[in-house]
Amino acid sequence: MADYDYDLFVIGAGSGGVRASRLAAMTGAKVAVAEEHRVGGTCVIRGCVPKKFMVYASEYARHFETARGYGWDVPEPAFDWPRFLMAKDNEIARLSGIYVRNLQNAGVELVHGRARLKDRHTVEVDGHGTVTAAKILVATGGAPWMPRELPGIEHAITSNEAFHLEQLPKRIVIAGGGYIALEFAGIFNGLGVDTTVVHRGPNVLRGFDDDIRSHVAEEMEAQGVKIRLGTQIAGIEKTAEGLVATCADGHALEADVVMFALGRAPYADDLGLEAAGVARSETGAVKVDAYSRTSVDNIWAVGDVTDRINLTPVAIREGAAFAQTEFYGNPTTFDHDMVASAVFTQPPVGSVGLSEADARRAHGGKIDIYLARFRPMKETFYGGQQRALIKLVVEQEGERILGCHVVGPDAPEIIQMAAIALKMGVTKPQWDATCAVHPTLAEELVTMREKHAPPALGQVA
Ligand code: NDP
Repeated sequence: MADYDYDLFVIGAGSGGVRASRLAAMTGAKVAVAEEHRVGGTCVIRGCVPKKFMVYASEYARHFETARGYGWDVPEPAFDWPRFLMAKDNEIARLSGIYVRNLQNAGVELVHGRARLKDRHTVEVDGHGTVTAAKILVATGGAPWMPRELPGIEHAITSNEAFHLEQLPKRIVIAGGGYIALEFAGIFNGLGVDTTVVHRGPNVLRGFDDDIRSHVAEEMEAQGVKIRLGTQIAGIEKTAEGLVATCADGHALEADVVMFALGRAPYADDLGLEAAGVARSETGAVKVDAYSRTSVDNIWAVGDVTDRINLTPVAIREGAAFAQTEFYGNPTTFDHDMVASAVFTQPPVGSVGLSEADARRAHGGKIDIYLARFRPMKETFYGGQQRALIKLVVEQEGERILGCHVVGPDAPEIIQMAAIALKMGVTKPQWDATCAVHPTLAEELVTMREKHAPPALGQVA
């Protein structure tokens, strides 16, 4: 590759870009990665990782409360937001440092600055001039989407800012009913903030199984989160006391912070994609084939910028598959089927495979449902009311398990294991042949023998 400065130039040092560049460099290829912010990307810097620390912090409120039922005398607990923020920022800095070291150890050159394509082999990085590369990988991720035309939107924050609020607000209004809106609603509610979610749809978490959606909403409301459905924020005004978010139904909500979590958009503008001839979809995502190759045959894209399944582990696998294909001579695609995901609400959700509604559509209604809703033993001991829900969606012919859905403590941990079996095509008899682990919540998954009654005629979507 003597004609180019690099064998591979990667734009974006997030989950996908870091994995691809490290693997490529380990073959001895000359690799550089450009990053305009901090190394680690959304997941490490302003997403999954700091979010999970916030979830942990907020869960203590309930732990203190329930501890009393187990015989503990707990003095009135107090939460120190600045102290938590400092600890969180230190840990994020440590993790970002590990990413930098991992890149360096693999021999990847790290270039700090915003990169733009000038043509299909040329990249310009702010402050660093222009370089050429035989292959280019776009791994720039996504960014929060905001309705810019909404009156007063300049007063609202996104999840990016929620990680750095100087003060913990007393009242927060969160727009949206997806992953981010609900996770942050649980966080702020747990930290004692008066929390209201405003969502346009008839229920939260569209795309998830309907029983899961209702169960999560009910349990969150039971914990004190207010959920206003069927409306959306139409405008925000600043007042002497704070902010007022007015909903389309006329209802006004007073708040100190208004946060929008209405989805994320591919971060693909101002990257020079047009100059290089890289095609984009209507939503702005970089179009790719199964090998993550764009419309230009020496340029690839992985992760959220391609808007396939927008999850960190998926970006990592897409990045690894690209490196295998292009640098190890081992053509590899990532199979996007049966990817499990978790929503870190309180209680959390773990889900893999088809929802009941999707399975009914795909299998002409010929499915069986197994469902259990119960109070886990940790709750019953002290009279707690939080309930868990577990649900299996099973194809009648062949009895393959098409979907597994859990709401309850440790649901994300449970679903990781269930996902292995579903990915392997497990059938209900094989699943049931597995002996229970007692006493656990997950044992209910392998002890459900009774089919759940189908909904009455007219209730099937
Ligand atoms: P989601 O797509 O999950 O949710 C977006 C929400 O905003 C939906 O409730 C949607 O409503 C609503 N919405 C969209 N457009 C509008 C609009 N114009 N007006 C009013 N409401 C609107 O996006 P998030 O921002 O929550 O998260 C982005 C992605 O990041 C997720 O999809 C997920 O892939 C990833 N993520 C994963 C996490 C995890 O794995 N735990 C955690 C956080 C993020 P409707 O349903 O009606 O369309």
